Amino acid sequence: MSTNAFIGLGSNLEDPAGQLARAVAELAALPASTLIAQSPFYASRPVGPQDQPDFVNGAVWLKTTLTPHVLLHHLHTIEQQHGRQRIKHWGPRTLDLDLLLYGNHCIDDERLTVPHRELANRDFVLQPLLDLDPDLALPDGRPLTFLRQHCPDNQLRKLPPLVRTPLNNPQP
Ligand code: AMP
Repeated sequence: MSTNAFIGLGSNLEDPAGQLARAVAELAALPASTLIAQSPFYASRPVGPQDQPDFVNGAVWLKTTLTPHVLLHHLHTIEQQHGRQRIKHWGPRTLDLDLLLYGNHCIDDERLTVPHRELANRDFVLQPLLDLDPDLALPDGRPLTFLRQHCPDNQLRKLPPLVRTPLNNPQP
């Protein structure tokens, strides 16, 4: 049986919006998974150390039969393909992928916490999720709209959609 999985994406290095666009395509190509929708991208001030560029964030909605831990493994593989290095907690990164929600499951073990631990505190996570489905709620029933109204402000700015012109198909 397939489950609705919501993945958060973030980047603040090396063309962040391009990193996210590539990652969305890579998530869409995951085995046993279908991309249902992707959110707009948002720019936001970093959490934690301020001596780093603004982040670009977004979220995707997958239907998947992958288990949450196998899905997490795929997320790590995609992060590594983007040159992700784990240098500094809350530091700059080429790509961060988080499993935000996995159906109504609650998971808390040494590798995985779902719903994601910081979900309720981050407007740049809640807003893209609400763009995907305004009726989303946590497994305990709290609506994400309520959490969004009460979370800290990271100065979200919605970015225009990326326009890509095929290289071998010049505009007339
Ligand atoms: P980060 O540096 O923020 O990418 O954190 C990565 C670590 O968080 C990894 O070792 C994961 O196993 C762990 N982790 C726990 N819960 C989650 C989750 N819901 N999504 C992604 N990583 C998670």
